Amino acid sequence: MDEKGGLLLIQQKDYDQVGIDAAVRRAFDHFGGASSLVKRGDRVLLKVNLVGRHAPERRATTDPSVVRAVARLLLDCGARPFIADSPGIDAFHEAAERAGFAGVARELGISCVELTDPAPLKTSEDSLFRKIDVSRLVLEADAIVNLPKMKTHGQMLLTLGVKNLFGCVVGRAKAAWHFDVGFDRDRFASLLLDIAGAVAPCLTILDGVVGMDGEGPTSGRPNPWGVVAAARDPLLMDLRLCRMMGVRLEDFPLYRAARQRRLPQCALNDADVAGDLPPDHVFSVRLPAQGSLRLLPRLPFLERAMTSRPIQIAERCIGCGRCAEVCPADALILGGRTLRFDYGKCIRCYCCHEMCPVRAIAFRESPLVRFSRQIERLVGWFR
Ligand code: SF4
Ligand code: SF4
Repeated sequence: MDEKGGLLLIQQKDYDQVGIDAAVRRAFDHFGGASSLVKRGDRVLLKVNLVGRHAPERRATTDPSVVRAVARLLLDCGARPFIADSPGIDAFHEAAERAGFAGVARELGISCVELTDPAPLKTSEDSLFRKIDVSRLVLEADAIVNLPKMKTHGQMLLTLGVKNLFGCVVGRAKAAWHFDVGFDRDRFASLLLDIAGAVAPCLTILDGVVGMDGEGPTSGRPNPWGVVAAARDPLLMDLRLCRMMGVRLEDFPLYRAARQRRLPQCALNDADVAGDLPPDHVFSVRLPAQGSLRLLPRLPFLERAMTSRPIQIAERCIGCGRCAEVCPADALILGGRTLRFDYGKCIRCYCCHEMCPVRAIAFRESPLVRFSRQIERLVGWFR
C-alpha cells in the first residue's frame, strides 16, 4: 500500500484519552506524520460531525476525545487548528456545547466556529452541478482534517468520510440541495463526490469506536465497532468500509455515482487495507429500513413506490416543529402533536427523521418493497 492510497484500521475499544491519542498519532504517522500533512502556522479546519444538539453518548457526533487528540497533535507541530461545522437546523453554539466540542476548544485555547458565509467551490469539469457553495472558511483554510462518525443513514445508507463533508454547505442550503436532487440518491451522491473532491481533506480520521446503526444518523442505536479508521482519500475509505459493513456495493449510492464516473477507487484492492483488522473483517450492522429492490431494475417511475416513507410515532412527539421547519419539500403539516405527511410532495430525504430530537419519526417500507423481500426470501430458500 502506498502512503497516500490506503485505509488504516486501528482497533480501539473505548474513548480512554490515552488510547485515542495513541490511535490518532498512529493514523498521522502512517500517512507520513502530521508535519508532512500540514505546515507550521497553517490554519487547519477540523471538520467534525455536528449533526445536531446531541450529547456524545448518543453517538451521533464525533467523540470529543478524537477531536481533542487531533487538535493537540496539530498544535504540537505548530499548526493552528480550529473546530468547525454547520448543523442543519440547531443553533451552532448550543450544539457545539452539548457535543463537547466547545469544551475541547476552551481547554486547548482554540476556536470552535460555525461554518457560515457561502462562497463558490471550484469543482471538477465532470460535475453535474453548475455551482456549489460551501463556507468561505472551508475555502480559506490551509488544510482540512475530516473527522466523521461511523453511522448508518436513512437516505444514503451509510454516512462516513465523504458524506461528512456535506456539512461544509452552509446551514439551510443543505435542505435546498435535498430538494434540488429530489428522489435521486445517485445524483445526491454525485454532489457529495464533487464536494469531497474539491474540499480535499489532507486526512480523514473516522470515529467508529462506538458508532451508530439502525435508524441513523441520529435515531439509531450505538454500536461498539471498536475502530478508528484513517485514509487520505475519504471515498476509498467509504467504499472499503461499505463492503466490510456487509453492504452490497450496488446498494450504496456513493459507489454507484463513483462507478458512473469510472473513478479508480471502485476497483477495491485488499492491498489497500492495513492495520489491526484484515480486509475481510466484517462489522455487524443493522441497516435502516430504507427499501431496496434487488429483483427489480432501478426505474425512476418506481422510486416513490420503492422507497420507505417517513411516519410519525405520535406518542413520542413533543410538538417542537423542527421536522416541518427543516422539510425541503414543504410536505409536513403539524397540528399540535399530530403530523400530516403529503407523500405526493415528500422526496424521502428523511431530514425530518434526522432532525427530530425524540426519535418520533421512523420509516415504513412500502408494500412493494415488503412484497419484494418476501420474494427474495423465497428465492433464497430454493437456491
Ligand atoms: S417529509 Fe421528511 S422525508 Fe419527506 S421531504 Fe419532508 S423532510 Fe424529507
Ligand atoms: S415529530 Fe419530532 S421533530 Fe416533529 S414536531 Fe414531533 S418531536 Fe418535533
